[in-house]
Amino acid sequence: MTKELNKTIVVTGGTGYIASWVVKKLLESGHDVRTTVRDKSKKQKYEHILNLASESTGNLETFEADLLNPGSFDEVVQGADAVIHMASPFKISGIKNAQKDLIEPAVAGTRNVLEAVNKTNTVTRVVLTSSVVAIHGDAIDIEQTPEQVFNERIWNETSTEKHQPYALSKTLAEKAAWEINEAQQQWSLVVINPGFVLGPSLTKRKDSTSIDFMLSLLSGKYKTGVPDLSFGVVDVRDVAQAHVNGALKEQASGRHVLVSDTLDAIQIAKKLRQAFPENNKIPKKVLPSFLLYLLGPLQGFTWKFLKRNLGIKLRFDNSYSQKDLDINYTKPDDTLRDHGKQLEEDGLLKK
Ligand code: NDP
Repeated sequence: MTKELNKTIVVTGGTGYIASWVVKKLLESGHDVRTTVRDKSKKQKYEHILNLASESTGNLETFEADLLNPGSFDEVVQGADAVIHMASPFKISGIKNAQKDLIEPAVAGTRNVLEAVNKTNTVTRVVLTSSVVAIHGDAIDIEQTPEQVFNERIWNETSTEKHQPYALSKTLAEKAAWEINEAQQQWSLVVINPGFVLGPSLTKRKDSTSIDFMLSLLSGKYKTGVPDLSFGVVDVRDVAQAHVNGALKEQASGRHVLVSDTLDAIQIAKKLRQAFPENNKIPKKVLPSFLLYLLGPLQGFTWKFLKRNLGIKLRFDNSYSQKDLDINYTKPDDTLRDHGKQLEEDGLLKK
């Protein structure tokens, strides 16, 4: 790799499920990566990326930064060419205080990172990890959407602090990023809006929502059945590649829906049963709606959520990501098989 092709790229939240793949891909293609972690003393959380760096041509530096500390990203972005801002809390259950747990870190964190970028004269590209939940809140929103397909022109207008607060946090953070971007000329903004990300993890961490979902399907948590919910799914390796291409492709621009296919929970379970026929804990049935209305609130599903999501199919247009970011989507069968295998090989499935 020639020196001029070698860039210095910041990835915020390098301990994360998706970010680890982004760091890996950048290092393997010879770029220098600076990543942030909340607590440098918790080395076991990011040891895997240090190991990746020792096997790659690119260099890796780690910095300490917290989304909630103004100025804490100033040092890491100084002199960098591009910044991939990915750190943000991803939680859809067990939220006690939506403002404090989700909205503040997402929005103030985005502002902190972009204000740090504005203090440099080197960064020319920012890639922000948003989500399809900045496009739609509930599945029922599709009824109000032109041609009943979610695309980059649509914004989530239905989430609130009380209903779908994670979706609200991603929507507000993305809006803040566009606002800050429009007020300056130095850097362009590329936004990645992934669906539900699945696929093998580079760590044995279990506290990521994506990993927890797959573990639950394979370990019997949903043995009695899955709710009739629909997901736009995408492979973690494709999401990482979209961020890398978003950072490096000069002409890339705008928002990008990143979804390979739309699958119901039961279709995901069926594909897993095909890949792992010996596993008899994988769900075989859809839970009846009346049961969910009865028991859902105990499991964190409000009636409002159920009414606005159960049995409603999602549809996404992913054509722009294929054209603008050269994404060649991995088939969900491969994503699910590879994810299950990784969990098995890492000893994370209960016998
Ligand atoms: P993870 O939970 O694996 O990673 C989240 C990262 O954010 C961690 O590195 C975490 O650091 C960091 N973080 C959280 N709060 C703070 C804070 N206050 N200060 C600094 N860092 C913080 O999640 P994913 O990899 O799944 O998600 C990464 C991004 O992708 C998020 O922006 C998420 O919203 C988005 N996304 C994820 C999807 C998915 O299906 N997984 C779908 C669409 C978007 P620490 O290790 O210290 O906790």
